[in-house]
Amino acid sequence: MESLFYTVLSEQAVHCHVCEHHCVIKDNDMGICGVRKNNNGVLKVLNYNKTISVSIDPIRKKPLYHFLQNTNTYSFAAIGCNLRCAWCQNYSISQSQHTFNSIPGKPIKPQQHVDQAIHYGCPSISYTYSEPTIYVEYALETMKLAHKQGLKNIWVTNGFMSEQTIRAIIPYLDAVNIDYKASSEEIYSSYIGGRPEPILRNMKLFKEASVHIEVTTLIIPGVNDSTKELTSIVEDLTNTLRHDFIWHISRFFPSYKMKSTSPTPMNTLRTAKDIGTSYGIQHIYLGNV
Ligand code: SF4
Repeated sequence: MESLFYTVLSEQAVHCHVCEHHCVIKDNDMGICGVRKNNNGVLKVLNYNKTISVSIDPIRKKPLYHFLQNTNTYSFAAIGCNLRCAWCQNYSISQSQHTFNSIPGKPIKPQQHVDQAIHYGCPSISYTYSEPTIYVEYALETMKLAHKQGLKNIWVTNGFMSEQTIRAIIPYLDAVNIDYKASSEEIYSSYIGGRPEPILRNMKLFKEASVHIEVTTLIIPGVNDSTKELTSIVEDLTNTLRHDFIWHISRFFPSYKMKSTSPTPMNTLRTAKDIGTSYGIQHIYLGNV
């Protein structure tokens, strides 16, 4: 399958515009996500129609607390991610593409996902577990079919997509849970492999398009748990979304490259909640507690 959103720079290189990395990819090389390959001047997406994970989840697990409450959501993923969080809870499907010769996944067509969602009585489809930006072709085709059949579409995302990608998905997107992991450029570059600024821009675009937004911040001891950093996160969010949004403050448990870091103390979560409340955020929930 040919990738969306790229330009040919020369016989030797293409320029991918799917996410904010904007990779320049030489012939026969992959982009940072490990699922887009320059094949003789044509950018191919290798995870199209390959489902690595599928399940029916309570919508609260996304987490979405103020959208289609008390329903289940049909959820699926293809392999890959454009970020490399050191604490990733789903690293076996978000990062393992770098270790395979070909991209694994069960062939399931977009219409089959829609049919299954309807069969199991789910009013929505969630594009989740890994990063939907990285399988945008697969997600977008499914989203169009889902809307035609009256289903809602939900992205659970790191928010690091390009403006081109966000404008393509917005007409078919109803709700989003977007991670805002840190305010500091340094934390994003050291632990995550991204930048906070495009994520805030994308939140603004979702808000302007009236997409339902809930934000999640995982608080990791020694990374983003200082009062200064928590205050900066809250300032960024309230400057971007004002006060009428839902903020999920999530507790870290050891995972992936941070197996020796302790779980987040409850007091740190309460401090984060107090800071959010003092800035007027209307709905704050503690998660993973
Ligand atoms: S999707 Fe992002 S990470 Fe992957 S090749 Fe394109 S710009 Fe690079």
